[in-house]
Amino acid sequence: MGEQVPLLLWALELFSALVMAALLALVVWVVVAYWQDVHQTRHTIRRNFPVLGRFRYFFEYLGEFFRQYFFAMDREELPFNRAQRSWVYRAAKGIDTTLPFGTTLDISRPGTIIFVPAPFPSLAGDGEPEPVLIGPHCTHPFETRAIVNISAMSFGALSRPAIEALSRGARKAGIWLNTGEGGLSPYHLVGGCDLVFQIGTAKYGVRDAQGNYDLERLRELAALPQIKMFELKLSQGAKPGKGGILPGIKVTEEIARIRGIPAGRDSLSPNGHPDIRSLDDLLERIAWLRAVTGKPVGFKMVAGDLAFFDDLCLAILHRGSEAAPDFITLDSGDGGTGAAPQSLMDHAGLSIRESLPLVVDKLAAAGLKERIRVIASGKLLLPADVAWALCAGADFVNVARGFMFALGCIQAMQCNRNTCPTGVTTHDPELQRGLDPLDKAERVANYARRLVREVAVIAHSCGVDSPRQLRREHARIVTGIGYSESLDAFYRKELERVKTGR
Ligand code: SF4
Repeated sequence: MGEQVPLLLWALELFSALVMAALLALVVWVVVAYWQDVHQTRHTIRRNFPVLGRFRYFFEYLGEFFRQYFFAMDREELPFNRAQRSWVYRAAKGIDTTLPFGTTLDISRPGTIIFVPAPFPSLAGDGEPEPVLIGPHCTHPFETRAIVNISAMSFGALSRPAIEALSRGARKAGIWLNTGEGGLSPYHLVGGCDLVFQIGTAKYGVRDAQGNYDLERLRELAALPQIKMFELKLSQGAKPGKGGILPGIKVTEEIARIRGIPAGRDSLSPNGHPDIRSLDDLLERIAWLRAVTGKPVGFKMVAGDLAFFDDLCLAILHRGSEAAPDFITLDSGDGGTGAAPQSLMDHAGLSIRESLPLVVDKLAAAGLKERIRVIASGKLLLPADVAWALCAGADFVNVARGFMFALGCIQAMQCNRNTCPTGVTTHDPELQRGLDPLDKAERVANYARRLVREVAVIAHSCGVDSPRQLRREHARIVTGIGYSESLDAFYRKELERVKTGR
């Protein structure tokens, strides 16, 4: 005991010395910060409120992380609220997705979709969806039972373990994975899933040194049995009319090699395809790609002027239905992966909620709906979203951010900075460490399966046996006064409005 007293006194002295040093350092910092703030001219707040003004930036920075935990209500946040994210997280983990005590969704809000429960719901079980054939005139058409698939996200935008998990998960769930415009990486192939190879405006992965098509490489890719289809990307939801942007910090040696570009430099693709400047160019390029690859070829775009689809149908009918694209991926103006200018992200391109039914109606009116498969994408990550898209006439739904949540994304919204805390969109090996591709592959597959299973639940409630039997009569949309109207009647009026230019 006697020996312990001096030790205790020594510890107390050390502690008070440390506290004094910390206080002194704090005082010095306040004096220096005060002097800096009153003498700088760039920040008004700091000049007017020296030292205190600095905390504004700090709290603003912290707000990004804390809002979603403490302050935002379940249905409040954008792009995805807590209710949406939680459903995906639970589905991905394979845990219960049922909820107690009633909906937190305001079902009288205009635009809300209400499914029409049948007096005698279907007694069908969880059978496999019916198969759909894409590209009947190709040497190698593609038949699939998948309803929900993984939307285009490039290796580069996403990390190695993220792509690997998506590939393995897609294989387990029997769905396809779109490579995105960044070319084909070994990580896309690792799981053995079906792949859609996307060709962007820079032709990454199929370009020669001058940026033209490398025919040999295209043939090599087409010979891979995993690649089922080719998709020309005309535009994407986050930034219609603007090419892809991959910041130099994310262009590693490996990514540069796969894309055919220099490492460490910003990777910018043109706003449009230099070789496709008209509708005729587009149809000719599609025919050429189909002839070279022997596989279905379609294109992806965000709708703007809907008259484009009238012209497209006329041009196809003029050439014969064989000349049609085998599919159109219709992206929503509020689609989101990828770094994008805020003005385009916020204001360019029609939402899929508006464009999908109108485009489907135009294809149907031209007798091309069966020939051209429609893939809908853009914030369709919950069962009700997918069921709505099927009612509206989509053949498939592509999901990107839902699968990012399944990979562990927490909506920290730093995807373009190489600092993603969950390893999904960073090439920093330290941050990638936490993302185990094998574990996350299970989550990807769980989410895909649960999503489709719950769409089947909606279908059964509406009185039909499977998701693909959902039609417009099975859903209603809430209008301005809070009452609902059948989707069929609502979209017919919309089509009329578009035709008369109102
Ligand atoms: S966690 Fe954040 S940075 Fe990472 S993918 Fe999700 S939104 Fe992007």
